[in-house]
Amino acid sequence: MTDDRIHADRDRCIRAVQSKDARFDGWFFTAVRTTGIYCRPSCPVVPPKPENMSFFPSAAAAQQAGFRACKRCRPDASPGSPEWDVRADVVARAMRLIADGVMDNGGVPALASRLGYSVRQVERQLVAELGAGPLALARAQRAQTARLLVETTALPMSDVAFAAGFASIRTFNDTVREVFALSPSQLRERASRGAPGTGSLSLRLPFRAPLQPDNLFGHLAATAVPGVEEWRDGAYRRTLRLPHGHGIVALRPQPDHVSCQLALTDLRDLASVISRCRRLLDLDADPVAVGDVLSADRVLAPLVRKAPGRRVPRSVDPQEFALRAVLGQQVSTAAGRTHAGRLAAALGEPVDDPAGGLSRLFPTAAALAAADPAGLAMPRSRRETFARLAHALAGGRIDLSVGGDWSEARLRLASLAGIGTWTIETIAMRALGDPDAFPASDLGVCAAARQAGLPATPAALISRAAAWRPWRSYAVQYLWATGDHAINRLPAEPGQPRQESKEDT
Ligand SMILES: [Zn+2]
Repeated sequence: MTDDRIHADRDRCIRAVQSKDARFDGWFFTAVRTTGIYCRPSCPVVPPKPENMSFFPSAAAAQQAGFRACKRCRPDASPGSPEWDVRADVVARAMRLIADGVMDNGGVPALASRLGYSVRQVERQLVAELGAGPLALARAQRAQTARLLVETTALPMSDVAFAAGFASIRTFNDTVREVFALSPSQLRERASRGAPGTGSLSLRLPFRAPLQPDNLFGHLAATAVPGVEEWRDGAYRRTLRLPHGHGIVALRPQPDHVSCQLALTDLRDLASVISRCRRLLDLDADPVAVGDVLSADRVLAPLVRKAPGRRVPRSVDPQEFALRAVLGQQVSTAAGRTHAGRLAAALGEPVDDPAGGLSRLFPTAAALAAADPAGLAMPRSRRETFARLAHALAGGRIDLSVGGDWSEARLRLASLAGIGTWTIETIAMRALGDPDAFPASDLGVCAAARQAGLPATPAALISRAAAWRPWRSYAVQYLWATGDHAINRLPAEPGQPRQESKEDT
């Protein structure tokens, strides 16, 4: 295999570092031989001499080579490489699983078995691509989680170590010292920001600019399932089912980051929540790369110019999303919400939300599979499709998780009666996170295409869209955004006049 990855292109890396190009943050890391420090490409410090720079594909690889994280640019906190969201191969699936915390419950064997490979094969492929094996990658992630907790909470260090996934206080102390060149208490002293109480955390989620929040947050707010999701005080809030417990997150768009307020029943879920929220908001995307490709189409070009940086609203729970996609087949946004809200009220576990109006977790596929679908006010054939999907998900016959294989998931979905191309591509786009999914028969996409002067039949549109690959999911966002629908705007705050829309019903 020829090495066409960015860190292997020395000249390109040097140019990116000299221009402090934030677009490359997360794509590679710059280590400086003379200082023993590694940085993100956009580090504000004066760039070192090119002959002293070396480049690594991951923070873990730089750490493993003995470099310490720069205290100015905090390279370990840069947005993740967009590659892991874009690619469908085993390395990308492994990276998504590690980010989701799989290594903390079962180590390398658990990771390998989720991927369907042997431990040795997984190690070999990760080392070949990332310069670090799964243990080092997971350790880099634990160090990053630990730093978040040290700096943003008043938790005792022993709780931090446990929550971040360390096996002992001693490993925690040693790792933090090695990675950051500071002890945990020194890290805490340096973070002068006020620390909120335990259980409630306040974080910033960085992204690659530009980011267009309107359709991203607008979509989540307009389709919010009552009791499970809500828009409140300028934030999208929702309940989360997590490996060790549950949580409530509030995500608020800011000019240069997304603020994230979290309440968790078990802090060990922190890393997994961060990775889910980043996926939900598509924060690891590379909007410039997307814009370059879509702008080559004369119809899409003005749409991209007007609102660069549109993201794909994704999901925190792929099974939940898939089930909701079936509830949303051929009905309005409002009807889809009503069906989902009734199921949540009847079958979702109750949660407390002192800070807002949330009351339920979305029911598990198992709970939905066991329930009587006759209660759903929808055509019998769709009720049966819903039950079939719930059974297949609950029984593990369809894997929509971050580690799952996208083509396999599409094939298995297609094998269920009642699940057609629209549902499959919608699930691929928003639950699997495939950047190139394309629900060409979507009514909103077809209407927008016709309006914009694009071919309006699915077949002709698919052929035109070949030029938009591998970013067709983003083209869908740009097309949807041309319509006058509530999904395209942030909800009005109380006291502001509500914009009426003819399509809201
Ligand atoms: Zn730096």
